[in-house]
Amino acid sequence: MSENCIFCNIASKRIPSHKVYEDEGTFAFKDISPKAPIHIIIIPKKHIVCLSDVSYGEEQILGHIQIVASKISKQFKEMKNGFRLINNCGVDGGQTVFHIHYHLLGGRVFGWPPG
Ligand code: 5GP
Ligand code: ZN
Repeated sequence: MSENCIFCNIASKRIPSHKVYEDEGTFAFKDISPKAPIHIIIIPKKHIVCLSDVSYGEEQILGHIQIVASKISKQFKEMKNGFRLINNCGVDGGQTVFHIHYHLLGGRVFGWPPG
């Protein structure tokens, strides 16, 4: 828990959010500024700053998030034909909240390459 981290505060429910999923180590909630009809943020409860900060030993945390994304996608008919799972890492990657998170986006067709 990092006191000043917005996502730590969301996971601990000090800051309210629209929760979609929670387990012992993971929390998922609707993005406040959605970029697609379905836009969910999936985070580990552990405060990790970004993907370039992860270590061997954190495979379970990172792998688990992908299984959670898959399970959540099945709850939304909008994602029956697919979805996009994104991690923005660092300033050049477009990261604005420095607690590692994955964007689960669905309900429209996404372009490639991303902007
Ligand atoms: P990033 O730009 O770091 O990849 O993604 C951060 C995301 O967190 C953005 O899509 C932003 O809309 C979302 N976000 C930032 N603050 C809050 C908040 O207080 N509540 C919720 N639900 N989402 C937030
Ligand atoms: Zn945090």
